[in-house]
Amino acid sequence: MYEKPLPVIDPTTRPFWDAAKAHRLVVQRCQDCKMHIFIPRSNCTSCFSDRLEWVEVSGEGTIYTYTIARRPAGPAFKEEVPYAVAIIDLKEGPRILSNVVTDDVEGVTIGQKVRVIFDDVTEDVTLPKFVPAES
Ligand SMILES: [Zn+2]
Repeated sequence: MYEKPLPVIDPTTRPFWDAAKAHRLVVQRCQDCKMHIFIPRSNCTSCFSDRLEWVEVSGEGTIYTYTIARRPAGPAFKEEVPYAVAIIDLKEGPRILSNVVTDDVEGVTIGQKVRVIFDDVTEDVTLPKFVPAES
């Protein structure tokens, strides 16, 4: 059984989670100013337009900043420490908070290139995570 916290899926975020389940990474894009937006919301963060569409992105990104968790956030995380939590600049612009999955957490660095993978944690929920990209 999966014992870690699961995302709260609401009508605004559902397309993101549905796509993740299909192993596709999607973000919103403003049809007016073309800005890519994450996290999901009802209006563009740049021009406030409500004409947002969902588009698939490359899944490629760069680590903007990260932290290494050395104490588990709860019993369910005990097996996993140390693990890397990072804010990743997607190639298309928006930032996403996720995990960097690697056997070498000490090797995680700011500016490192990463790419998305998909972790099917339950029947309903798939979490996009990132791994170091092959250089
Ligand atoms: Zn806009």
